[in-house]
Amino acid sequence: MLRPTRAPLAVLTACLALTALTALPASAAAAPAAPLAAPDIPLDRLTGQLADLAAIAEANGGNRAHGRPGYTASVDHLQEQLDAAGFETVRQEFTQSGVTGYNLIAEWPQAATDEILMTGAHLDSVVSGAGISDNGSGSAAVLEVALAVAESGLTPERRLRFGWWGAEELGMVGSRHYVDSLTDQELASFSAYLNADMVASPNAGYFVYDDDPAIEAVFADWFTAQGVTTEAAAEVRGRSDHVAFDGVGIPVGGVFTGAGRVMTAAQAAQWGGEEGLAFDPCYHQACDGLDNIDETALDRNADALAHAVWELGS
Ligand SMILES: [Zn+2]
Repeated sequence: MLRPTRAPLAVLTACLALTALTALPASAAAAPAAPLAAPDIPLDRLTGQLADLAAIAEANGGNRAHGRPGYTASVDHLQEQLDAAGFETVRQEFTQSGVTGYNLIAEWPQAATDEILMTGAHLDSVVSGAGISDNGSGSAAVLEVALAVAESGLTPERRLRFGWWGAEELGMVGSRHYVDSLTDQELASFSAYLNADMVASPNAGYFVYDDDPAIEAVFADWFTAQGVTTEAAAEVRGRSDHVAFDGVGIPVGGVFTGAGRVMTAAQAAQWGGEEGLAFDPCYHQACDGLDNIDETALDRNADALAHAVWELGS
């Protein structure tokens, strides 16, 4: 899937080191030019977000699915946090199966240019469970990266936009609606879209989207520096919210820890997982609750996403 990219991302990325100094505090201005390092995303905050989503499901019939009260409560909970952190938030409506659905969009108001770097995750679960691995994990990781942007007081080069999609489980409905709603001017301003759908699978693999070589390298190099081997994310290809962005020529990338496929012996040897077991044995089931995650995978992937947002955005 190594199709040509629309924007010369590698060239743009190389230029970022020159502009990143504008975001450094005055006391550090004399330091050699270097890109700002992304902050570490604290694991306890990620697990706290997952506990909140599990509690929301428990209080609303056991799920956070499209058209159900657990979904609306999930949107409310994220929007409150993003508003309090200083984001400009919009709740975008669409209709699916005769029921109103929602995307939550949040943009950091400070940026040096009008170019957009968007990062997103679907917030809905299936009806059968709370959806903590799929996709509380991606939702929490993207949320904590956004909150880290706010806490850093960053004035990035690009507009950092974040999205939580509705009705992904019904055919990526929310993200398709969002991309359809973009004006030509906005479409031309997108530099990339990064997706996080399942980033803490309990028998975790470390997969990187291989749609765009430059974005793939940003993630893969980060994992390599942590001593973690990665593979191409074949299982999620064509099956999550990046598809709509890819369809209009926006470079896409992302991270993934595996769903219903089974871990091979070679993968178990390199990642320390269990051979012959699914990456997520509770995929789309009632047992996808708070115990159904690997905290190390959650921690690593949230940090990898933060690194990519800083590298490609600031
Ligand atoms: Zn998912």
